[in-house]
Amino acid sequence: MSDLAGRFRELWDGIAPVGRDADSGGYLRYALTAPELRLREWFRAQADHRGMPVSEDGNGNLFAWWGDPPTGTQANDAHATGTRDSSTQDRDGPTRGGAVLTGSHFDSVPHGGAYDGPLGIVSAFLAVDELRAAGATPVRPVVVAAFVEEEGARFGVPCLGSRLLTGEIDVDRAAGLRDAAGVSFAEALGHRPAGADPALLGRFAAFVELHVEQGRALVDADAPVAVASAIWPHGRWRFELRGEGNHAGTTRMADRRDPMLTFAFTVLAANKEARLRGAHATVGRVAVEPNATNAIPSKVTGWLDARAAEPETLHDLVEAVQAKAAERARRDGTALTVTPESTTQLVAFDGGLAGRLAALLAAPVLPTGAGHDAGVLAAHLPTAMLFVRNPTGVSHSPAESATDDDCTAGVVALARVLEELACH
Ligand SMILES: [Zn+2]
Repeated sequence: MSDLAGRFRELWDGIAPVGRDADSGGYLRYALTAPELRLREWFRAQADHRGMPVSEDGNGNLFAWWGDPPTGTQANDAHATGTRDSSTQDRDGPTRGGAVLTGSHFDSVPHGGAYDGPLGIVSAFLAVDELRAAGATPVRPVVVAAFVEEEGARFGVPCLGSRLLTGEIDVDRAAGLRDAAGVSFAEALGHRPAGADPALLGRFAAFVELHVEQGRALVDADAPVAVASAIWPHGRWRFELRGEGNHAGTTRMADRRDPMLTFAFTVLAANKEARLRGAHATVGRVAVEPNATNAIPSKVTGWLDARAAEPETLHDLVEAVQAKAAERARRDGTALTVTPESTTQLVAFDGGLAGRLAALLAAPVLPTGAGHDAGVLAAHLPTAMLFVRNPTGVSHSPAESATDDDCTAGVVALARVLEELACH
């Protein structure tokens, strides 16, 4: 085992037990709950250990600075004690120009995998170590970030931290988002979120998020690391189907108005229409009323998650599923309403930056169907993503994985990228 692989394993083992469910082996690391708070403490300790002052942006996002921390932000003095003296600055060398931001998120979906999020943060600290060990002298600060509530698993809005920082969500709306227990985001954070911080954003010249791949493209490409080209446009649509609740034993088949039939057909249609277009459609959530074994349902609600490479394809896909569902509803005597709940536009990562990094790393370039903080930040500063191979291709599940060798290759790639962007 190489020295770097050993240090990766050591850091990884330090967080692996936090928030892991003993039964599923998956993670329950919801934003600002005990496990995620422990990981945030781990972040501060790692930053402290490296002499990197930590600042918070008032939205729950953490930033560890190698190089000048921002003045006027709430640098965490308790944790930064002893790390902001002149010797730190002397050792780090001069800093000028915008900082290079890297990092990811700690939070997980319910019973999520170990790598989605934390891999980007662990790799970022190790990449800083690599640069320092190589004697690199950044001319721009290198900043490791941990964004809050990326998955939206607790408060319902994905990338909440990066949306707040960039002003892409209304502060009052964000503050009032509530989790399943009725706790608001502002209550969990301990204060009203601060919202957009253009001054802080303006200090960043680029953002590079390293992330475990959430598909099998790198397995097929036989490469450990890739550079992202784009995030597919995607969205969520709520399909509500109303019929007539009735007795399962006494209602003749011909007399039924069963919304479950319309729902079942809609799910099959979504799958078929997505396949026809090379797109993705999923119905992973359903609510049935009254949800009784011996009752014909009165109402079935299903949520369609749809994604495609181009906005037109996505639009056509959702239209087609809706048309088929409506046609089937007429046959079943049920009523359909479709409500868009959220849509995210195509994110094309900075072509110049992606091309530069792909050439630097001799890595393949891939699009992805998954949303990320990088997708939010891409509208505000040059942004790129690195993907690390996932042998199962599975994500948002305990089966998500990455080998130590590939994670090490990811750290080396990220260190080269940071060297390229921060040291010249
Ligand atoms: Zn993620």
